[in-house]
Amino acid sequence: MPETDCIFCKIIAGELPAHKLYEDERTFAFLDVNPGSRGHLLVVPKTHAADILTVEPADLAAVATTAQAMAKHVKARLGADGVNIINSCGAAAWQTVFHLHFHVIPRYPDDGLVLPWKPAPADQGDLAKLADELR
Ligand code: 5GP
Ligand code: ZN
Repeated sequence: MPETDCIFCKIIAGELPAHKLYEDERTFAFLDVNPGSRGHLLVVPKTHAADILTVEPADLAAVATTAQAMAKHVKARLGADGVNIINSCGAAAWQTVFHLHFHVIPRYPDDGLVLPWKPAPADQGDLAKLADELR
C-alpha cells in the first residue's frame, strides 16, 4: 500500500516525476536527483517499507537482485570501474527518505568520493569481547 506523504511511493505511482530506468513486479529503479556520481540511481520496493529492518524478505531479495542488475548495467553502459551499493537504515545512519532504497553509485577514477570512516586496527581483546557479545 502506498504511504501517504512518501515521496518514493508517489514516484512509483507516477504522481511525482522521476527518471525511471527499470521496473518489474516488485521493484522500481530511478535516477537520484542529487547524484554522488554520474549514474547514481536508487532501487526501491514497490510496496512501501520504511527500511531494511521492516521490509518483507521477498521484496528485499527482489531489491537486491535489481540492484545487482543495475550495477552491471551502469558498469556496461557508463564505463564505471566499480559500484557502491549503499543502504542507510535510520536517521542516525543518514537515512533521509523512509522508504527502503539501495543506492547504486557508479565509481570512476578520481571521482572524489571518500570512505566515510577512517580504517584503523582495533584491539584484538576488544574484538573478542565484542564477538562474544554478538554471538
Ligand atoms: P537517503 O539519504 O535516505 O539514504 O537517500 C535518499 C535519496 O533520495 C537521496 O540521495 C536523495 O538525493 C534522493 N531523493 C530525495 N528526494 C528525491 C526525489 O524527489 N527524487 C529523486 N529522484 N530522488 C530523491
Ligand atoms: Zn513509500
